[in-house]
Amino acid sequence: LTANELLEEYAETGTLAALPLGHFIDGAFTRPAHNRTLESFDPGRGEAFARFTAGTAEDVDQAVRSAQKAFETVWRDMAPVERARILQKASQLILENLDLLAVTETLDSGKPLQEAMGDVRGAARTFEYYAGACDKLQGDSFPLGPNYIGYAIHEPVGVTAHIIPWNFPISTAARGFAPALAAGCTVVAKPAEQTPFTALLLAKILSEAGLPDGVCNVVTGTGAETGAPLTSHPQVDHITFTGSVQTGRTVMKAAAEDITRVVLELGGKSPVVVLADCDKEQALDGVIGAIYENAGQICSAGSRLVIEKSIHEEFLAELVVRVKALRLGHGLKQPDVGPVNSAEHLAKIAGFVDRAKARGAKVAVGGSITQDPATGKGWFFEPTIVDAVAADDELAQEEIFGPVLTVQVAEDADHALELANDCQYGLVAGIYTSDFAKAHRLARKIDAGQIYINEYFAGGIEVPFGGNKKSGFGREKGLEGLKSYCKTKSIAARIG
Ligand code: NAD
Repeated sequence: LTANELLEEYAETGTLAALPLGHFIDGAFTRPAHNRTLESFDPGRGEAFARFTAGTAEDVDQAVRSAQKAFETVWRDMAPVERARILQKASQLILENLDLLAVTETLDSGKPLQEAMGDVRGAARTFEYYAGACDKLQGDSFPLGPNYIGYAIHEPVGVTAHIIPWNFPISTAARGFAPALAAGCTVVAKPAEQTPFTALLLAKILSEAGLPDGVCNVVTGTGAETGAPLTSHPQVDHITFTGSVQTGRTVMKAAAEDITRVVLELGGKSPVVVLADCDKEQALDGVIGAIYENAGQICSAGSRLVIEKSIHEEFLAELVVRVKALRLGHGLKQPDVGPVNSAEHLAKIAGFVDRAKARGAKVAVGGSITQDPATGKGWFFEPTIVDAVAADDELAQEEIFGPVLTVQVAEDADHALELANDCQYGLVAGIYTSDFAKAHRLARKIDAGQIYINEYFAGGIEVPFGGNKKSGFGREKGLEGLKSYCKTKSIAARIG
């Protein structure tokens, strides 16, 4: 299957029968227990374009058994350097399939093709990074005196479940699969029902890279029928859940039943603090990218601009000019801003803005549902800025997950800090200032898992990522991300 084949079929028929149908279990696309399918939609046109399997608890059970067998018989005890070679090969094959994966991601999620390509390159980099870590999972030794030897080793936790959201399907899959596999764990993943295809293609690519059968399995379907049986499966040893707070709570309760390890990557309402002494061009670029990339559907989107009063009006006027210049369009046409993922999600975003308007909010730009100007189709929301929002307003507290920027005005840096922290979420934060010391003082005091200074989304796979407060707990990425998939065993022996 190539990107050109997909694009030709899509251009001729508006649908894609060529995409994989079925789960990926035990090294192959498999027939599901029940032959039910669901539709996947192209958000850029608002029309169904492909079908995929609606999994059941039986399919999940088959996948978990396959993962458990592969863990015990082949993957746990494979030499780390051999695991490294497979992950490195996977990285290379992901890049060789860049176009195929990116086109599929764009059609499924709606995101602009150039962003999807960035996600696929990021997935390849994630496998490269963790390939290098396989044979560096060193343990420790303890000074117990001449009569003892004491040491600790890191063992893989076992079968890991990965529940994936629709906003970064391949990125989220890669950042969970790669460290789990590097640590010696096996995988069962459940992609979101809106975006099932790239996780399936990734599993196939991993298999082509030499991953033994059963080490990485993907079961598609709804959260209730497929996700819930996976997170409550007694043979699952670790759950990485990425999604909403509400579902995260359900998953944590399911994990509590069997005392299963869990990492929760949940929502955000992240502040971008812009101080009067910042480099204005740098801050303008940063603020625009932070909220309009992926049409704001990013857990770590900079959705609250916290700006110092003395530059508020001038900065906002510049932002509005830039927002008006953003081109909307179908993801394949490489627009500045693409559609949002579903009709239901579009209505939710519009609901937030309509309620704000009814409360008398100052909408500086945008504020309405719209369509692709080229076709009159699709689920689009205008890039929007709502000015002078109070800290207790729902626009400043709730995750909208769309292209809507909320502006909060701060008297000074201390007030900006207070506003930044006055939120139930604590995923990331951005700071724009030319005062190095002030930047780092603020960085220490902001309650978030990751801080970006003078470049939003700075840092890559090397840097640990995860939330505080209602944004969840546990860290992915970096070596810390690898450790979540390991359990430490300490061994002490009397030798004297
Ligand atoms: P969601 O919680 O509705 O769904 C996420 C996944 O959970 C989907 O695969 C869904 O099928 C599955 N699911 C639903 N019910 C389930 C259940 N009972 N048991 C097990 N799985 C179940 O979230 P969404 O709307 O798809 O994603 C958007 C949310 O994800 C936003 O809140 C966003 O901030 C968050 N997110 C967080 C991060 C992060 O790293 N912190 C990254 C991306 C998205």
